Order: sequence, then structure tokens, then C-alpha cells
Amino acid sequence: MKLDDYRDMRDLERSGEPDGGGTSGEEVEPIFVVQEHHASNLHYDFRLEHDGVLLSWAIPKGPSLDPAQKRLAVSVEDHPVSYADFEGVIPEKEYGSGTVLLWDRGTYKSSADVDAALEDGFLEMELLGQKLRGGWALVKFGGRDEDNWLLVKKDDEHANREIDVLGEEPESVLSGLTAAEIAEKNGETADGEEA
Ligand code: MN
Repeated sequence: MKLDDYRDMRDLERSGEPDGGGTSGEEVEPIFVVQEHHASNLHYDFRLEHDGVLLSWAIPKGPSLDPAQKRLAVSVEDHPVSYADFEGVIPEKEYGSGTVLLWDRGTYKSSADVDAALEDGFLEMELLGQKLRGGWALVKFGGRDEDNWLLVKKDDEHANREIDVLGEEPESVLSGLTAAEIAEKNGETADGEEA
């Protein structure tokens, strides 16, 4: 899904989100981010930089460090690379309105050809984030034209069956703030009501 879809879905002047002109382009390795998004339904947006865009999946329950917890990840429109630094509150009535918190950021490595792996519906990668590390896989399921994938932690030294990483490390890697604090700064509650 191209960036045109991203722009068509939003009034970027009102929403305050990046328009996708230019790239961040500082790191050599491609980046990944996880953005906790308090839209009408809370979800976590998982994004991988590839070919000048952020490939994006919405994960309703968020990532888990437990290899047994396969988390539904719905493929959504590509986002501009500059979106990787976005944190704030998307105003009411705008697409995806609600608080966005930059929950994790880092680089990733994949030994596979990413385009071929995505076409095959199986992408293995190593995440080098502040919270998510080690081996992970995105696995497509359902029909060819469907958007449903699973995000699964590989069973390695970074796997952990005990802790709920979302609950234990809720703060932004950008600002150190919680979603409620980001919302409060913007005069709203995390779920979009006016405070
Ligand atoms: Mn989202």
C-alpha cells in the first residue's frame, strides 16, 4: 500500500502527523518502531523501514516476549519514514484520532530478501530495540488477499514467558512519558476525551 493511501486517509494539516516528504535517513540499518495508539480501539502499530517507507501492521494486543503468544498483526497502509518519530495526540474527527506513544524504536536486520519474504508470507528478523530484541517472525495466514499476519517471538535468550512487557514498560522511549501524560500535555485523556 503506497503513501498516497496514507495521505488520502488524513488531513495532515489538521492532524499534525508527518506528510512523508524526505526521510530521516541517519541510521545505516533500517529502523523499526512500535507506536502505542489509543485510537477507537487501543492497538500497537509495528513498522519496519523498507524501500523508503514504513511497512505497517496494527497489532490489537501488542507484541509479546512469549514465543507461545502469537499476536494478530493486520497489515495496514505504508507510512512515511518520518512517522517513526511521531508522538502526540491526533485530534478528534481525524483518522486514527487519539494518543500515539513511541513505545519502542531501534533497528532491525533480516537475512532474507524482504520483498520476497513478504510475498511468501514469512519474514524473519532480528530486532535491536530498547524493549524488543532478538529473533521475531511475521507469518501470514488466511487467504492471499487478506491482511492477517501473526507476530511471534523466536525462542531465544530474549524470549520471556513471565513478564508482560507492555504492562511493565509502558513509558515512551522518546519522552519517557506514559500515554496519559502525553494526552494530558495536549489537554486530553489518553482515549481522546477532553480532560
Ligand atoms: Mn494505528
